[in-house]
Amino acid sequence: MENYDIVVIGGGPAGLAAAVSARENGIDRIIILERDKELGGILNQCIHNGFGLHTFREELTGPEYAGRFIQQAAKRNIEYKLNTMVMDISWDKVVTAMNREEGVFEIRAKAVILAMGCRERARGALNIPGYRPAGIFSAGTAQRLVNMEGYLPGREVVILGSGDIGLIMARRMTLEGASVKVVAELMPYSGGLKRNIVQCLDDYGIPLKLSHTVIDIKGKERVEGITLAEVDCKGRPIPGTEESYSCDTLLLSVGLIPENELSQGMGVELNPVTSGPRVNESLETNIEGVFACGNVLHVHDLVDFVSEEAEAAGKNAAAYVLDRRIECTDRITLKAETGVRYTVPETICPGRMEEKMKVRFRVGKVYQNCYISVYFDDERMIHRKKRIVAPGEMEEITLTKEQLLAYPRMKEITVKVEEA
Ligand SMILES: Cc1cc2nc3c(=O)[nH]c(=O)nc-3n(C[C@H](O)[C@H](O)[C@H](O)COP(=O)(O)OP(=O)(O)OC[C@H]3O[C@@H](n4cnc5c(N)ncnc54)[C@H](O)[C@@H]3O)c2cc1C
Repeated sequence: MENYDIVVIGGGPAGLAAAVSARENGIDRIIILERDKELGGILNQCIHNGFGLHTFREELTGPEYAGRFIQQAAKRNIEYKLNTMVMDISWDKVVTAMNREEGVFEIRAKAVILAMGCRERARGALNIPGYRPAGIFSAGTAQRLVNMEGYLPGREVVILGSGDIGLIMARRMTLEGASVKVVAELMPYSGGLKRNIVQCLDDYGIPLKLSHTVIDIKGKERVEGITLAEVDCKGRPIPGTEESYSCDTLLLSVGLIPENELSQGMGVELNPVTSGPRVNESLETNIEGVFACGNVLHVHDLVDFVSEEAEAAGKNAAAYVLDRRIECTDRITLKAETGVRYTVPETICPGRMEEKMKVRFRVGKVYQNCYISVYFDDERMIHRKKRIVAPGEMEEITLTKEQLLAYPRMKEITVKVEEA
């Protein structure tokens, strides 16, 4: 069995940035295991621009952004194996993987960084009545077909779900010559970034129907049309609001699910809200020496934040391997309350945290003219006015070590939305 200091599972932007950072922080024996035929993860199929504004102060395409990190990894001679599927990780960090050349093999790691990304929620999870004709794709699959394989999945398209991938595919399909009839969204607000609604729908005259869902799919061999209906506040279709659209393709963009089967298998505790591991200030899971970053931890809307988070995970994994960590004596719990669905991380050890630390979270619905408030036990420490917050946009607050050390007996930090 081979031994490595750090094994990184997944060679997407999170895995790459974590590996580069671990190397920069003094680790020699690092390996990235990637099941695909190339590094870069899902960014390889995101050929539109808009990536890297925060990280590189430039507007890059997805492959260009991934390319920057692939170059950084190559410059540091970071080892990787492609076409290599990780099948199991034991609680004591033995990684079992397989590929065509070596068959099944095992690697013993001192630390593991989980960076497996996420997958799209499929139609099966939606319970739409009707036959199962050809022409129903997840938006990500359609993105891969159009941008990487050179196929156009259809000519008349309806999109269900207004997450970022759905919005981006509305524009992409239009640019490729298809007619996108409508984007329907079950919730009364879009799940995507405001900038994507403007640039991908409004600029192309594609209607967005909020509080609408697909209630029927017509066609036996191939999709021939769909029926939309408005829904009430409980998501139930309202009789009499049905509208028919003829189309040959239905794209589903109905949410992403972090890929945590491996994590669960090794005993990593998951947060039921994010479906990602519960982590502390070091992005370390409940298993010592096992770290998580990127979309496997919680679904991000901007890859720049994935890279930032992964850099921290790599640095913390290096400190663990090199036994450079400060003993953790006190732990503060972070609580998500009124309007805030979750926080990453969920606990903080003030002695171990960086001088400044970002806490990221999402809200459960749209709030206008509200405040994001942070309480140290019962004392309000942050009260930041926001014109609008929405579930589609990740929020963050910054905590400093100095602030936390000034409250040595603090047990809880609460993050909540307060309406004006
Ligand atoms: C379909 C889709 C389209 C997207 N489009 C955009 C966009 O346009 N703009 C944007 O900012 N963000 C987009 N995102 C979000 C984007 O994915 C993230 O910002 C970023 O790519 C997440 O990086 P990651 O490394 O965490 O995950 P990924 O990029 O998904 O990388 C995870 C890697 O882990 C590998 N892996 C998983 N399991 C295993 C295993 N068992 N063994 C070995 N390897 C494994 C995967 O093959 C993959 O390469 C999109 C996401 C999806 C799913």
